[in-house]
Parts: sequence; C-alpha cells; structure tokens
Amino acid sequence: MTRALIAACLATAALAFAQSYRPWTDTGFGAARVRTVESREMYPEDVPEHTFELPLTVVLLDQTNWTEARALRELRKTAAIFAPCGIVLGDVQLARGRGPDGGHDIDMAALYPGADMPAAVVDFSARVAPNAAWPRVFLVGRLLGDTVLARSYQQGAVGDQESRRFPYMNTAWISYRAHWDERAEKEYSSLAHELAHVLCRCGHTGGDRRHLLHEKRNFLGAAVLEPDCRAMQLSPLLER
Ligand SMILES: [Zn+2]
Repeated sequence: MTRALIAACLATAALAFAQSYRPWTDTGFGAARVRTVESREMYPEDVPEHTFELPLTVVLLDQTNWTEARALRELRKTAAIFAPCGIVLGDVQLARGRGPDGGHDIDMAALYPGADMPAAVVDFSARVAPNAAWPRVFLVGRLLGDTVLARSYQQGAVGDQESRRFPYMNTAWISYRAHWDERAEKEYSSLAHELAHVLCRCGHTGGDRRHLLHEKRNFLGAAVLEPDCRAMQLSPLLER
C-alpha cells in the first residue's frame, strides 16, 4: 500500500469510532454539544493496568484555534503521562460551544467583585452543565492579561463536600498557544501539567532533571516525580 493510502485508511478507521455529538443541555454555552471520548481514542494500545480512573469534562470553545484533533492529542499525551502513576483517563466528555457573546478569550485581569478570581473564570465555570464531572478543562483562545499560557485552580481551602458550590474549583484553563509552545520534550502536555496541579494540590518543584511540574519552563517534561504521583493518587477526584 502507498503511504497516502495507508494514511487514508487510518483516517477512515479513526472516523469510524468517533462518536457523534449530542446536544449538551442545561449549559450557558451557545450551540453546546458533547460527546464521550472512547478509551481507544486516548489509548491506541490497550488501556494500561491501573488503580485509579480520572473522569474529565473538556470544554472546547468554538472559533479558537483548538480543534477536536488537537484536544485529542493533548488527551493522548496526558493519558501516557499519567499511566506510570496508575491513573487512567476514564469517562471523558468532550463538549464544544460558544462562549458568552461568542467570546473565547479569558480576561484574567478583571476580578470578580470581592473575590480573588477572574470574573470570566467564575462566569465560564458557572455555565458548565451542573452534572458534568470534575475536573473541568477549558480549551480557550487566549488568557488575556496573564503571564502564563495555562492556569488551574485547585481546591484551596474549600472542603471536598463544599466544592460543588464553587464551580471554578478544580478547573484548568489552557490557551491554544500552550498547545503550540515549543518544548524540550514533545511528550510534555500542558493539559497533563495543569491536571497534575489540580490532582496533587501542589505547586512546582525544582531538580536537575526534566519533569511534569518543574518550576523552570525549560525543564518541563513528561516524567512525573514519585512524590507528585503519590500526592495525585490521594485526590478525591479519582475513582478507585
Ligand atoms: Zn504549573
């Protein structure tokens, strides 16, 4: 078979198992639709041995440079990065829709009155269907007025039982430039990095080797440090 023909066959096979979208009801996003990402879309081989499953809601905003293929690429890389910690991506819901007034950039500078949170983060978070699983990831255009390309909000001081009252807790926000940013390791993923923060409720560490939560950009890599793995495994967001 020629290379082009093989590629065409692979593309057909990929389309064959991609589910179609259904309306995403009870949300504040325009033209909102959602589909379940099947495990073989994230694990081209078999799903690895694991102890923990992470459910996930991914909201891809329309009219950004994000595409479904790019979202799936981040999910596949995240799946590979988390596998050595015994964590697999379980029920992943991929939602798409338009932001309020068609907006897809997040203004990180304008704060919600009386809170140390960007108003847009609070607003977009509250638009997600109430029954959607946490953590919730937003693939957005740009993070305006921010120094970083991706950001996440951990549980903080809020108790696990209380967290549902604060829909912006356990969310990650990833601009499309984070997807394109040149990295020393192509296996690295901004999605995995932000989800690791959310799961471990921890920040960055140093060291002279590359790893997922390194404090220096040039040292970001796909390997997860053992203590970070253990901290992630304690997350109440994981299903055992
Ligand atoms: Zn970070």
